[in-house]
Amino acid sequence: MEQTKDAEKIREIQKSAQPCFQCGICAASCPVFRVAPEFNPRIAVDEVIRTGSVEVTGREWSCAYCLMCEERCPMGVALSEILIDIKNLSSQTGKVPPSVIELMDVIRYTGKVSQASSRTEKKRKELGLPVLPKPDVDEIQKIFELTGAADRLTRYREAEVEPE
Ligand code: SF4
Ligand code: SF4
Repeated sequence: MEQTKDAEKIREIQKSAQPCFQCGICAASCPVFRVAPEFNPRIAVDEVIRTGSVEVTGREWSCAYCLMCEERCPMGVALSEILIDIKNLSSQTGKVPPSVIELMDVIRYTGKVSQASSRTEKKRKELGLPVLPKPDVDEIQKIFELTGAADRLTRYREAEVEPE
């Protein structure tokens, strides 16, 4: 059943990638590609069109979801959505980079993606901004349990994969 759903999703991804004519504007616009050329959005799309499958390497997790590629794509290819779909498929196979696993853990136990430093807090006070609210960590942990994210985290920890 899971495999049928994956095949359907791959067909959907392939269909949305079809208008791409490999002009490379997405790569030229991508801030991540500029500093980490091993992640190339044009190649990610090409892979889907050529093979009808998704390349699950771990590199797709580098996308910062800035949407610059979509803004500039002359064919309106929803590249960031394609990459999110690839990440979802990749997470089902357990191919999740250690940095993402770490981040999931931080969110699970603190309710934040990062802690505000004392300097930031001081600056906020100087600017008259309110004190940052404390997240309800119990509630967040419950969400992790109920959505299966906690189980996934355990599985990822057991089979931790280095990105290529
Ligand atoms: S900008 Fe659009 S058409 Fe050009 S390579 Fe990227 S996805 Fe394909
Ligand atoms: S959305 Fe992702 S792939 Fe597109 S330009 Fe931004 S970082 Fe690059």
